[in-house]
Amino acid sequence: MTSTIEARPLIDTFGRRISYLRISVTDRCDFRCQYCMAEDMQFLPKKEVLSLDELDTIASAFVARGVAKLRLTGGEPLVRRGIIELVERLSRHLKSGALGELTLTTNGSQLREHAAALARHGMKRINVSVDTLDSAKFTEITRRGRLEQVLDGISAAQEAGLKVKINAVALRGFNDLEIPFMLRWAHERNMDLTLIETMPLGEVDVDRTDQYLPLSEMRERLQKDFTLVADDYRSGGPARYYRVAETGGRLGFITPLTHNFCESCNRVRLTATGELYLCLGQNDKVNLRDALRSGGAAALDEMLDVAMRIKPKGHDFIIDRAHSGPAVARFMSTTGG
Ligand code: SAM
Ligand code: SF4
Repeated sequence: MTSTIEARPLIDTFGRRISYLRISVTDRCDFRCQYCMAEDMQFLPKKEVLSLDELDTIASAFVARGVAKLRLTGGEPLVRRGIIELVERLSRHLKSGALGELTLTTNGSQLREHAAALARHGMKRINVSVDTLDSAKFTEITRRGRLEQVLDGISAAQEAGLKVKINAVALRGFNDLEIPFMLRWAHERNMDLTLIETMPLGEVDVDRTDQYLPLSEMRERLQKDFTLVADDYRSGGPARYYRVAETGGRLGFITPLTHNFCESCNRVRLTATGELYLCLGQNDKVNLRDALRSGGAAALDEMLDVAMRIKPKGHDFIIDRAHSGPAVARFMSTTGG
């Protein structure tokens, strides 16, 4: 890191230092998970999407301001054309030491093809989303995914030396009874498991009120079968972790609804069209693509300062009968989780 970077870290008006950028490299996906997307999604025209050069320039501007962690997400990041080239380009920041981690959240469907290249370009660990280990239910929740393909992708990632963490959205009446089994399955394969509360983003075809399962309840249920020992481990994200005595593995909980973690927020989110969202649950944003296209690197850098001035204090997600609509209209696939 140079002294200029040290002098100009990204700090918002609440004193939070931004060290983590999530980049949605595409809004497209080969799945249509029921809680994430509508069946009939309108995707962005390709010309509106940032080019690989623009993605690289914007990500690098953040690294130059002290961002130490980049996560590629989507939509499905591995369906973006040129994704491996982008990873290769960004890996120069790992080599220089400016970036501590370059990682990915994926549905796993394309991992067999790409895992080795990801590992070769410096990725160490990735998150793979799997909500059920039942093939028929998997195809139902993803509307078009094949569990076997994803499990094969996970094997490919492990063979390539990538550490895999499984993310599962906890859905009442869908996978809640299966979670003890998923926990054993993941831990036997040396993978941590993180459970996520469903968040009210985007108008989907299912009723989130019925599906919402507070993880405080899930934790109590798991404690009947497992000994959960609070663990200080932090992955740089909002998950709170426990060590499971019976399996030796880690179990994380991401609880935006039951336990708000905004006071320690360290992140911002770039969409595939270059909008920078400053909070997952609010609409505050700046347009980095327009800044870059109209004013080049200097305008982009200035816009990062504007962003820090308007980053909101936090989200206010609620899911109950009186609030069954989305907190914000955009889908999770816009900002990539
Ligand atoms: N396609 C990749 C995947 O599925 O991992 C990356 C993008 S996906 C939007 C990132 C994460 O967000 C996934 O773990 C997914 O399960 C989660 N997700 C999507 N919609 C959600 C929602 N409404 N509430 C909570 N998590 C959600
Ligand atoms: Fe695609 Fe991921 Fe959303 Fe599922 S959760 S539809 S895999 S972006």
